[in-house]
Amino acid sequence: MKPVLALVGRPNVGKSTLYNRLTKTRDAIVADLPGLTRDRHYGSARLGKREFIVIDTGGFEPRAEAGIYREMAKQTRQAVAEADVVLFVLDARAGLSAQDHDIADYLRKLAKPCLLVANKAEGMQGQAQWSEFYELGLGEVLPVSAAHGQGVRDMVEAALDRLAAAAPAEPSAASEADAEADGVIRLAVAGRPNVGKSTLINAWLGEERLVAFDQPGTTRDAIAVPFERNGQKFELIDTAGLRRKGRVFEAVEKFSVVKTLQAIEGAHVVLLLLDASQGVTEQDAHIAGFALDCGRAVVVALNKWDSLDSYQRQQLQRSIESRLAFLKFASMHTISALKRQGLAPLWPAIAQAHASAHKKMPTPLLTRILQESVALQAPKRSGMYRPKMRYAHQGGMNPPVVVIHGNSLEGVSESYRRFLEGRFRKAFDLVGTPLRIEFKTAA
Ligand code: GDP
Ligand code: GDP
Repeated sequence: MKPVLALVGRPNVGKSTLYNRLTKTRDAIVADLPGLTRDRHYGSARLGKREFIVIDTGGFEPRAEAGIYREMAKQTRQAVAEADVVLFVLDARAGLSAQDHDIADYLRKLAKPCLLVANKAEGMQGQAQWSEFYELGLGEVLPVSAAHGQGVRDMVEAALDRLAAAAPAEPSAASEADAEADGVIRLAVAGRPNVGKSTLINAWLGEERLVAFDQPGTTRDAIAVPFERNGQKFELIDTAGLRRKGRVFEAVEKFSVVKTLQAIEGAHVVLLLLDASQGVTEQDAHIAGFALDCGRAVVVALNKWDSLDSYQRQQLQRSIESRLAFLKFASMHTISALKRQGLAPLWPAIAQAHASAHKKMPTPLLTRILQESVALQAPKRSGMYRPKMRYAHQGGMNPPVVVIHGNSLEGVSESYRRFLEGRFRKAFDLVGTPLRIEFKTAA
């Protein structure tokens, strides 16, 4: 599970700038979920091989009593609660303010790893203007420049090392291998609040043919509910702090973005649940986009179908076409979790998405399909050269990656890439999984 770093500090110290640098400039996946809360942004980021989630917060004013400031303080507290490490951002040029002291008082009470980040420190080396930050008694101060990038790598490394020291990482690679070997499909039911996740999960777990068995949580703060259906083993990854209460499961927490993102990352297949009566909202599209960026197999379920009239059904079709066009590869199902209608077809769809994501594509067959495709429609010349495709091999699974080797492949157009994608999808019957195509030009 990816560690979570939260950026905390008063307004204008440079948190957003730092957030943008961490999430956007390192070929990172960005998953802002705006609209969810006013002031929190969540993004995935990577430093070398180490991946983490960053939370940006508005601005923290612990004494603020009313209105927007109070709301901001609340958002920040929630971000801190969700974080593994807090990066307390300070302005190296402005020095300490009363607000900084208030925030420090708050953070000191929490037993959570915390680093002090002296931002805007470019060109200040040796002057150590930020030495007064040590007064806060929160430990080491790291000078950075969010705007210019200096010190950012060291800061992330320090944060992640701090975390590793606090809680040794679990051997997640081993459990990954186990799950593969057991043929267990790890499934995450993802969706924004109130789309019907709990209702669906309870409908499933209440079915007689589906055997749920209790097992204590295996990971730090997520539980996985193992169950079996028609001989296929599943592991339902929790997205909302599900706890068993008698015969039903109940979400003990409110919607958690971090849990949702972590569940998507940990899943083989994401069942994206939408509230059909609301159409596709921006937040739905962001969650879907995150799943796609992670390369996850996706099945889409349009819930609350029972409550729609024919006009709403048409409207829904339109909003899917405009907002979820990038999920064309996924199968879509209309369901009613409440009335338990349309649920059965989800299982074969999930199994198919899983199988597609793990499909083995032998080089000779891939190469043959490539050559047939080129014969059918050759790529256009770009500049002086015509791209020449020689052979293809599989570069990865879950999601499947096809690597095409040849010459002058830099000029292959996006529309031609899509044409090839369609051909490979058809040939290997890939439904429900993203398919990545990479071009490798011989030097
Ligand atoms: P936030 O309110 O904490 O999210 O702060 P912002 O990221 O919006 O930044 C506030 C201001 O500080 C903006 O004008 C930024 O351009 C500026 N800023 C951010 N990082 C740096 C930095 O590293 N050096 C300097 N000189 N200015 C910075
Ligand atoms: P969650 O926040 O995603 O777990 O959503 P819940 O399962 O708590 O459902 C939110 C609300 O939607 C509840 O009032 C449910 O009864 C209602 N709901 C869930 N599924 C359906 C459905 O298929 N049809 C209708 N009409 N309402 C539903």
